[in-house]
Amino acid sequence: MTNRTIDTDVLIAGTGGTGLAAAYAAVTHGLKVTVIEKQSQIGGNTKISSGFFAINSREQREAGMHLTTQEAITQLADY
Ligand SMILES: Cc1cc2nc3c(=O)[nH]c(=O)nc-3n(C[C@H](O)[C@H](O)[C@H](O)COP(=O)(O)OP(=O)(O)OC[C@H]3O[C@@H](n4cnc5c(N)ncnc54)[C@H](O)[C@@H]3O)c2cc1C
Repeated sequence: MTNRTIDTDVLIAGTGGTGLAAAYAAVTHGLKVTVIEKQSQIGGNTKISSGFFAINSREQREAGMHLTTQEAITQLADY
């Protein structure tokens, strides 16, 4: 193992949805961000999850997806 010194404003451990969203928010506020990941691939659990995310978000509406929270829960329960 080699040691490295990194100059950063924000250090985020983990590249799941939470870490990447935090990184995006920090970058858009002009901060220098470093993200570290202990696994060999980024993505965390989003690599293996498969269902609905960000129900009724702007991105989903713009993509023509119209699903209420109740419809999503009902679909999942049916599944
Ligand atoms: C099988 C499955 C199916 C799912 N299906 C759905 C679904 O259909 N719809 C839905 O909304 N949600 C679903 N989820 C839940 C959703 O995937 C998770 O809630 C979400 O991905 C969690 O994101 P996170 O960033 O908080 O954590 P994680 O995705 O767990 O990310 C954490 C990351 O941090 C890394 N890490 C941990 N410790 C360190 C460290 N010390 N240093 C560096 N890196 C570190 C980990 O390796 C990982 O990459 C599912 C989850 C699973 C497991």
